[in-house]
Amino acid sequence: MKKILAFLLSACLITVSMAACSGSNSNDEADVSSDASTSSQESSDESSSGDESSKETASFTTVEEGKLIMATNATFPPYEYYDGDAVVGIDAEIAQKIAEKLGLELVISDMEFNSIITSVNQGKADMGMAGMTVTPDRLKNVNFTDTYAKGVQVVIVQENSDIKTLDDLAGKKIGVQLNTTGDIYATDEFGKDNVQQFNKATDTVLALKQGKVDAVIIDKAPAEVFVEQNEGLTLLDSSYADEDYAICIKKGNDALQDAVNQALSELIEDGTVQAIIDKYIPSK
Ligand code: GLN
Repeated sequence: MKKILAFLLSACLITVSMAACSGSNSNDEADVSSDASTSSQESSDESSSGDESSKETASFTTVEEGKLIMATNATFPPYEYYDGDAVVGIDAEIAQKIAEKLGLELVISDMEFNSIITSVNQGKADMGMAGMTVTPDRLKNVNFTDTYAKGVQVVIVQENSDIKTLDDLAGKKIGVQLNTTGDIYATDEFGKDNVQQFNKATDTVLALKQGKVDAVIIDKAPAEVFVEQNEGLTLLDSSYADEDYAICIKKGNDALQDAVNQALSELIEDGTVQAIIDKYIPSK
């Protein structure tokens, strides 16, 4: 019991420890060239970019004129995942609404989660939106907009697993998605040797099904989707580490950040954001 408490506490205090242990080289500097692909999402043409463009469009520039490029990792249902060739989900829909408000065409650029911040900082994307948690370490590299959703970390195991509580995770192999908060917590709590990193959330689940890892630590919303889609998997009752999701934007790009925040606050105020979340995560 004490150990569980310690775990909970350390998860809560992650802010402090992350700030303390953030070394010189951040993983966010990792290679961005990988298998990125882009797909253009349909956009409404209400406010085309003529002379009559809104205040916002006049005051900021984007990587490509008339476009809002969103870097994401589409292995994270229900926030972003593929439906055929299109990236759909909560983030894709909110981003579409933001783009419409700014009079821009949304372009979704799918890449590894670990490459999103680099992509934004290298000017390859205007923003990163990927169920991304605001953390002190990330705030050193990038700015975040206001929060638009909440997350929490959970543990997926096989139904017949002997892991029943967080305590039982000690000494087990834990699968995580590289450089996510799940990765940070697991490594911090159980040590690097007990953690196996994957580039895609879906690959962590595959490894769990194949018995290559004993548990997966990941955000609750995708975890619930994965458990539903994959027979034989279940969630531990305990969850931990409340998190805030926000959109990351390159430091110094205040005009774009202000414009996105303005659009976001309107979409939160008029209930659009909640309606999109409820559509993908119906309350029980
Ligand atoms: N919320 C987690 C993080 O920001 C996971 C995000 C993701 O895997 N897309 O690290």
